[in-house]
Amino acid sequence: MSNIKIILKSGKADAVKRFHPWVFSGAIKKMLGEPADGALVDVYSNQDEFLGTGHYQDGSIAVRILTFTEVETGQDFWNQKIASAWKYRQALGLTGSKDTNAFRLVHAEGDGMPGLIIDFYKGTAVLQAHSVGMHKSMEFIAEALKKNLGDRLISMYDKSAETLPSRYAETIVNQSIWGEKLSETEILEHGLKMKVNWESGQKTGFFIDQRENRKLLMQYSNGRKVLNTFCYTGGFSLCALQAGATLVHSVDSSKKAVELVESNVVLNAFEPSRHEAFASDTMKFLEETKNKYDLIVLDPPAYAKHHDVRHNAVQGYKRLNAHAIESIAPGGILFTFSCSQVVRRDLFYSTVISAAITTGRNVRVLHHMSQAPDHPVNAYHPEGEYLKGLVLYIE
Ligand code: SAH
Repeated sequence: MSNIKIILKSGKADAVKRFHPWVFSGAIKKMLGEPADGALVDVYSNQDEFLGTGHYQDGSIAVRILTFTEVETGQDFWNQKIASAWKYRQALGLTGSKDTNAFRLVHAEGDGMPGLIIDFYKGTAVLQAHSVGMHKSMEFIAEALKKNLGDRLISMYDKSAETLPSRYAETIVNQSIWGEKLSETEILEHGLKMKVNWESGQKTGFFIDQRENRKLLMQYSNGRKVLNTFCYTGGFSLCALQAGATLVHSVDSSKKAVELVESNVVLNAFEPSRHEAFASDTMKFLEETKNKYDLIVLDPPAYAKHHDVRHNAVQGYKRLNAHAIESIAPGGILFTFSCSQVVRRDLFYSTVISAAITTGRNVRVLHHMSQAPDHPVNAYHPEGEYLKGLVLYIE
């Protein structure tokens, strides 16, 4: 069965020729047929040049390009895609690491697979499709994982029900799709044990993207009193404890997250008196606490998912950062993050700096942080950069 052909308007082929993997619906001149959501389509310029093959989906991003060359998109194609993603993680030293056995194996556009996330947790691949086409390709992808990972793979779980359009998501369930029927495991990150439950947890169960930033935090935690806000399963808290923090307070509005961080502290046999977790809103906690902390982590959820709410998000980041900078002890350190893709790096920087100005404190910038390299940014798709952070020294 041949793919439906889509022809772009004159002048709209340039972005695809520069290997940008998205075709917006407004760029389409005509479609020679009516592709269903998830169907493979071939994209052509107005001069009838082949540009790429991708998944069609009714919406603002109409096509997510999988390949810019004319090739068969059968099992071999997927085997090569997964092989390339695996090879890249090998190059990062993640596939053979003794103290870290969880990493992102496929990061959507960053790995040339728009719409697909695969997180690898000690033998379990948790697959999350963000496009109908990727979900419909799941059998190919599962086969490719088996072929490339061999006996390193013990199970696969599909967690796509929350990330697909509701009209399609209604037809699927989150479920184990191969191998041992697991819903959780205990991973290692920097030698620390952490429980990950992909069935009930947020996203695929764990925020792997902060791995390198947690490691950086270890450099600054010794002898410090640490506040880890928006802690979720407590990755930053455990790293601070490991690196010699005198006391760590973890805060999350979710009770379930607070229980998780507590159980992770026990799992690693840290002295219970060195840690306490609070189920609270972060702003409320910062306003009410009498404690002075020497190191604060701010890792809020995305405040803005769209451009139209970006202004409110910026105000939110400013208030939060100003509050934290005000309440930090002299000589303290702030780790502050934003994972809102629409708040770009320069905007986040100026927002944090303007928050600092309102406090009148002397502030030095120590580090610029980003997502871990197993969440790569495709050079032709700058939108893939979403996590940015700063480490500040507050005099
Ligand atoms: N730092 C974490 C990931 C944070 S995800 C890690 O390293 O794993 C964001 C977390 O913020 C979620 O766990 C969510 O429950 C929590 N959250 C959302 N709104 C909050 C609020 N207003 N106050 C405190 N926590 C909040």
